[in-house]
Amino acid sequence: MNTKALYAGSFDPLTLGHLDIIERASNIFDEVVVGVTINLEKKTMFTFEERMEMIKEVTKHLPNVSVQMCDGLLADFVNNNGFNVVVRGLRGVSDFDSEKQMAQLHQYLYRDKVETVFMMADSRYDFISSTMAKQVISLGGDGSMLVPPYILKTMKGKLGK
Ligand code: ADP
Repeated sequence: MNTKALYAGSFDPLTLGHLDIIERASNIFDEVVVGVTINLEKKTMFTFEERMEMIKEVTKHLPNVSVQMCDGLLADFVNNNGFNVVVRGLRGVSDFDSEKQMAQLHQYLYRDKVETVFMMADSRYDFISSTMAKQVISLGGDGSMLVPPYILKTMKGKLGK
């Protein structure tokens, strides 16, 4: 069976933790799509286009990974675009409840068609969040352990640093 996996998030910006999950997923599944969500209620540092462009740049070494806009109800997006796997990263117990709820919703809506696969965050990256990366880098801290070099450069450019 051809496995087509979706890894979705707002990625504002994509961190080293996200990239690690994408790289590991690309070793397991035939095709991995990074789905960039648009949440009009959430104020983002980067526009949707900027987030897409940065993710394309830092995943260009992975031939079976592509980047796509992901809007509407995630469960419908998954079903309408032929995905049979949803990949999620787990950093710790704080991620667990909301991720369990989402996985069970997908089970309820699309049982037997879509499976949620959880990947445990690498211990080097499990403390990282996009919010933390933005705070550290905007306050002039060392962001090289938080986001890929290209994204760090783009963030510094945006912040005028
Ligand atoms: P959103 O912006 O939509 O809330 P997130 O950035 O929180 O999305 O996360 C998208 C996915 O990546 C989730 O499954 C989340 O648990 C996972 N994730 C986030 N940060 C990390 C990290 N540092 N290591 C591994 N997985 C992560």
